Amino acid sequence: MNSEERVFIGLGSNIGHRRSNCCKAAETLGEAISVKLTNMSHLYESAPWGVLGQRPFVNAVVEVRTTLGPLGLLVLLKGIERELGRGRGRRWGPRVIDLDLLFFGRRIVKGQTLTVPHARVHERGFALLPILDIAPDFIHPVFNVSMRGLYRRLRSRAAVKRLP
Ligand code: AMP
Repeated sequence: MNSEERVFIGLGSNIGHRRSNCCKAAETLGEAISVKLTNMSHLYESAPWGVLGQRPFVNAVVEVRTTLGPLGLLVLLKGIERELGRGRGRRWGPRVIDLDLLFFGRRIVKGQTLTVPHARVHERGFALLPILDIAPDFIHPVFNVSMRGLYRRLRSRAAVKRLP
């Protein structure tokens, strides 16, 4: 591995065995040839976004090192989502596993298929709270604010709780 970029990936599941879906996704990611899993947050439970009446999500964030570029990593994430059984559901609908590329070091990417940092990471407690476990001082490269600082600015924090 020659890349020292800290890459953070958000995991979410609200179908089936939600915890094992997240753990399986992290494990599969760590087994990919060009990826090394270096850290994982605790698991959290959060109310679903966008579509009401769904089960709550289980969320976590992993840190990886990779020699892939951002787009190559996105392709890998989509492959893992398919492998773990996520069909093409409606947006914000139920998911066996949802993998979001939150940060790729301090890189900024604005393309048709990929936006990094993830466009909504700074307003999502279910992404920020897990990151606080593993990288509280990591600085958002667009806002220049630490994860701890972004979390403090969040309006609603109550909806995300750490699982025992
Ligand atoms: P999702 O709703 O999570 O399945 O994402 C739908 C699409 O968003 C993906 O197929 C990607 O092309 C696009 N996308 C843009 N930025 C990101 C990102 N940072 N992480 C994951 N998907 C992204």
